[in-house]
Amino acid sequence: MKQIDSISYPIYFNSIAEKLDKFIEDGKYSRFFILTDEHTALHCLPLITDKVNPDNYDLLEVSAGEESKTIDFCIGIWKMLIDFDADRNSLLINLGGGVVTDLGGFAASTYKRGIDFIHIPTTLLSQVDASIGGKTGIDIDNLKNIIGTFTQPKAVFIEHAFLETLPARQIKSGTAEMLKHGLIADADYWHALKNSNLEKPEAELVYQSAVIKNKVVTEDPSERGQRKILNFGHTIGHALESYSLDHDKNPLTHGEAIAAGMICEAWLSHQKCDLPAADLDEIVSTLLAIYGKYQVKEASFVELRNIMKKDKKNQGGKINCSLLTKIGDCRIDNICTDDELCDSLRYYAQ
Ligand code: NAD
Ligand code: ZN
Repeated sequence: MKQIDSISYPIYFNSIAEKLDKFIEDGKYSRFFILTDEHTALHCLPLITDKVNPDNYDLLEVSAGEESKTIDFCIGIWKMLIDFDADRNSLLINLGGGVVTDLGGFAASTYKRGIDFIHIPTTLLSQVDASIGGKTGIDIDNLKNIIGTFTQPKAVFIEHAFLETLPARQIKSGTAEMLKHGLIADADYWHALKNSNLEKPEAELVYQSAVIKNKVVTEDPSERGQRKILNFGHTIGHALESYSLDHDKNPLTHGEAIAAGMICEAWLSHQKCDLPAADLDEIVSTLLAIYGKYQVKEASFVELRNIMKKDKKNQGGKINCSLLTKIGDCRIDNICTDDELCDSLRYYAQ
């Protein structure tokens, strides 16, 4: 049984059976609410209902997908909590992927000025990334996570078994963040991961990825400095994700967009931070082999750059990237010019 100590709470691995009911039954909470989406209600709720007495909780459900990470869905959750007379000693259990953990975390952190919540992440991406670090948030139009809080959960329960029902495309989305963790912080982990079966990530590799994310966020909980290394691939990746959400019938997943963003930002790393050419080749060939290439045309570059200009990571109107100096090491706060960003997209698209 493994456990990581995070900022102010434990992250339990594969120990929901022993730990969840103890956590719930310690008498601290007056009421329990479980937030799911339609898929996690079907696939994941049955795996915990033998741990949580159905007489003791009320169920809240949102539609699946990024479209639910809005103020309207948040108001829906607040209203359900009001209708159920949820008091300040209530606990919200967020059972789902990053959408449910971000949205539920935000709703809980603001309802009655904040009630406790825990995360039970059910996608690979939320297990190694979204559930760890205390960022909650919702989107406005195509601006992702533009409203949110830093609020830590009271516990996180990571269970490998949830991944069994997760569609292959969602597994691939999560492995992008695992690969990122290797690239920014641990070359040995990157090599072990890229040589493993990424279609069925081993529990130990999932655990190590969560350890890397947790180490970075505990050293810088409110993202004043070094935590920004986690943004590698995300300046351009988020722009591609928003663009795709607006333009494509079958939009990119978060991980697919970040994989494309990592290729562009690896190229910027080679130009601006001396990432060796051999490292660039290794990163590009690995990511292209897994994710293929998103078709992005020169005519879209201006719109992509305009999305990047609204990125909340910018300072003083300047577009900021976290870039690699080598595989396993990342440098924060690299200002990139419009031309450099366009050239990196051109490199990717060629
Ligand atoms: P998601 O929550 O939309 O889940 C993806 C899909 O998988 C959904 O359809 C969901 O219903 C389904 N699903 C979830 N668990 C399942 C299971 N076990 N079996 C079958 N289906 C299942 O997407 P995601 O990739 O988990 O999260 C993306 C979100 O996370 C984005 O909004 C992103 O901004 C956010 N995020 C937040 C942070 C953070 O630090 N807070 C970090 C990274 C990403
Ligand atoms: Zn991400």
